[in-house]
Amino acid sequence: MQQYVKLCSYTETDNQLQDCRPLKNDFDDIKHTTLSERAALREAARCLKCADAPCQKGCPTQIDIKTFISCIATKSKEFFSVIKNYYGAAKIILSDNPAGLSCGMVCPTSDLCVGGCNLYASEEGPINIGGLQQFAIETFMQMKLPQIGDPTLFRGNDLPESFRSKIAIIGCGPAGISCATFLGRLGYTDITVFEKEEYVGGLR
Ligand code: SF4
Repeated sequence: MQQYVKLCSYTETDNQLQDCRPLKNDFDDIKHTTLSERAALREAARCLKCADAPCQKGCPTQIDIKTFISCIATKSKEFFSVIKNYYGAAKIILSDNPAGLSCGMVCPTSDLCVGGCNLYASEEGPINIGGLQQFAIETFMQMKLPQIGDPTLFRGNDLPESFRSKIAIIGCGPAGISCATFLGRLGYTDITVFEKEEYVGGLR
C-alpha cells in the first residue's frame, strides 16, 4: 500500500491521534496572499526596516527580508518620491532561495519570519512578508528577462574538467531544485535531477 504523510490532531485526554487525513494532493496550505501593486507598496512602506530585523532570523532560507522589502519601496527624501526596484527585490530573494515564489505562497510564515516581525503586536499587524515575496517574484516573471550566469564565474572552456562531471540529484523537491540551481550557478554543466513522482516540486 502506498504510504504518504498524514496530518493528525493530538488529544491529551484520550492520548490518541485523531482526524487523520492524507496530505497527498492537498493544497490547503497555499495562502492567497496576492497583493496588488498599490497594496504591496503600502505594505512595504509600513516596514520599519529594523536594525535588528528579527524577521530574518526566522527565515530558514536566510533571505535578506529587510533589504528586499526596501527594494519594493523606499522613500526618497531627496526627490519626495518612492523608489521602486522590483527587479532588485526578486534578485535578493532568488539569490538565497531559488524556490522563492513557492515559499512566498506556502511557507508557514506566521511561525517563521512574520512571527518575528517587530510589528506583530501592532494594530495593523505584522508585515505580510509572504505576500510581498510573491508580489516581487511574480512581477519579475512578468518582466520576462532572460536568466544569465554570473560572468565572473563562468569562463566557458576555461573551466576545470571537474565542472563537467556528471552530477545526479535524487528527488526534485525544494532541496533538489535548490542544489541543482546553486551548482549550475557555480558553473557545473552536467546536472540531472531524478524524480520518481509524476510532477516535480515536492509539494504533491
Ligand atoms: S521585523 Fe517586521 S518591520 Fe522589522 S524589518 Fe522585519 S518585516 Fe520589517
